[in-house]
Amino acid sequence: MGSRGRTIAASMKSADLSSDARPQHILHEVFGYSAFRGAQADIVDHVVAGGDALVLMPTGGGKSLCYQIPAIARHRSQQGVTVVVSPLIALMHDQVGALEEAGVHAAFLNSSLSGEQAAHVEREMMSGRLVMLYAAPERITNPRFLAQLDSLQERGLLSLFAIDEAHCVSQWGHDFRSEYLALSLLHERYPEVPRIALTATADDLTRADIIERLRLEEARIFISSFDRPNIRYTIVEKDSKPRDQLLRFIQDEHGEDAGVVYCQSRKKVDETADWLVSAGIKALPYHAGLDAAVRQRHQDRFLREDSIVMVATIAFGMGIDKPDVRFVAHLDLPKNIESYYQETGRAGRDGAPADAWMTYGLADVVNQRRMIDESPAGEEFKKGQRGKLDALLALAEATDCRRVRLLAYFGELSTACGNCDNCLVPPATWDGTDAARKLLSCIYRFHQNGGQRFGAGHLIDVLRGKVTDKVTQYGHQSLSTWGIGADLPETQWRAVLRQLIALGHVFTEGEYMTLALADSARAVLKGEVQLLLRVPSVAPKRGKLSRSSGTGKGKSAAPIELDEDAMERFEQLKNWRAEVAKEHGLPAYVIFQNVTLAEMARQNPQSLDELAGISGVGAKKLEAYGEEILRVLG
Ligand code: ADP
Ligand code: ZN
Repeated sequence: MGSRGRTIAASMKSADLSSDARPQHILHEVFGYSAFRGAQADIVDHVVAGGDALVLMPTGGGKSLCYQIPAIARHRSQQGVTVVVSPLIALMHDQVGALEEAGVHAAFLNSSLSGEQAAHVEREMMSGRLVMLYAAPERITNPRFLAQLDSLQERGLLSLFAIDEAHCVSQWGHDFRSEYLALSLLHERYPEVPRIALTATADDLTRADIIERLRLEEARIFISSFDRPNIRYTIVEKDSKPRDQLLRFIQDEHGEDAGVVYCQSRKKVDETADWLVSAGIKALPYHAGLDAAVRQRHQDRFLREDSIVMVATIAFGMGIDKPDVRFVAHLDLPKNIESYYQETGRAGRDGAPADAWMTYGLADVVNQRRMIDESPAGEEFKKGQRGKLDALLALAEATDCRRVRLLAYFGELSTACGNCDNCLVPPATWDGTDAARKLLSCIYRFHQNGGQRFGAGHLIDVLRGKVTDKVTQYGHQSLSTWGIGADLPETQWRAVLRQLIALGHVFTEGEYMTLALADSARAVLKGEVQLLLRVPSVAPKRGKLSRSSGTGKGKSAAPIELDEDAMERFEQLKNWRAEVAKEHGLPAYVIFQNVTLAEMARQNPQSLDELAGISGVGAKKLEAYGEEILRVLG
């Protein structure tokens, strides 16, 4: 700070701005929204005035407006061009399309442009006419591009740098990009140009890295709550056919909705996608083993069509800013709570009700433990990984509010949410202390009886007194633990074992995943540790997400409650939107989001004035589409 440019900018308080450059005015005129959300207003004021900012806000929190509105305000105050650094080349086209739809002059520079197109963008930028320029991080080190920025700067036309997905600068984060390291150059070369960095990654290590590596020591830090109140968390126990559980979940609750299903392996992605298709779901696979062109095509379809279910490994997701993803389902356990939060966070960016659903079982626990054990990493690192997995397992086994636990993990205190499975249908619990002791002593007997080790299936057979070939072969009918657990069904024994493994009292070994006792098992055997377990539930009945009652199979759901007539209008508006989107080569939500269309359908406006009052209808869109919409509504 302290330089001439900064001082002038810093005095540019909202009150001094010309009326058309005031943030509230821009929010309403350009984006059609009536009020800022949460910290948006403070962030925007701070950046408009020339301050640096680091914004930590959850996915769907509304980060884009935090730099787009300052960019527009400063451009309208003759401050020139905002450069937006984003790693997501594939999405720049849509982001720029959305701004142009709203009447904001924006463009991107990346390798997909022809020489002629790039030259045109550069002219627009150099003239200062451009409000926002999106660029990939590697461009920032390109000498020619830097010379252009220098020239803008000399003429007072370099307004602001916005660094999106700022966690990419951190090796701790999940998306490290080495090109981001070069962005410290922005501060060194243009100290008087304000910068705003944004991320949805919450943890302390990443945050510290961002500040240090992007030289944001002077920046004001804005931390929002990481709660996503519209997401309903549900974790169910895996039964013997998890894919059927998934299908039932999709069919019962998400008829024709867009969603993402995460699986751990490429093979499982392919199989699950095929299987869903055969069950009549519009599913597509996505993983790093697919051809780049196929991946791109599937991603495009997911973004552009209404009701695609993307079955994917975690290779899919970063920068998917499709606002109306209605569910994220996990068929396999994620690595840790950070991953679970990131992945589920891709649901419901538009703020309408959405589901985070996961099915999880004994094999997940065993697999994740084994992956850590077998990784080549050092012991210290593995210890950290195990601790993180334990926290996730505790979340999965929890009998109290999932959200309270999730937020507590990120250091936020909260109270029972009323919108997770455990809050909606509190699970019955039972005292599993005795059962756990029986199970552990059975493993102990195996061990005593010739040092042999066995897996879960055999263990449970012996406990329940089931005669099998293996039982006869090893003479296990003579064990003192033979049949001592006949009173409990197999599912319940699996739950006990899962808990014991989750808690680290039992571990598995080798290819056959045989079971062995950890030292800590002794305390449980002695009855010194009480185990409170969930009663295994068979797909707990619960209310649907509160939405349209008119939803039936074959029809997509509306994001808000609509009666039958309104539902019909909603469908008509969507058909109209699909045509416009196709004509413009943009995803439908860039034209209008579902929430906005649903609101139009509900209010059924009869004049442009009434239409203008609907959230999401800005001046430019009203002018471009207003008459047509009134005609569609009839
Ligand atoms: P993020 O980048 O933080 O994930 P976005 O910027 O994509 O979130 O915003 C999420 C959604 O919320 C978008 O659909 C956006 O249009 C909407 N939104 C953001 N701010 C507001 C606001 N003040 N009023 C109404 N809708 C908003
Ligand atoms: Zn809850």
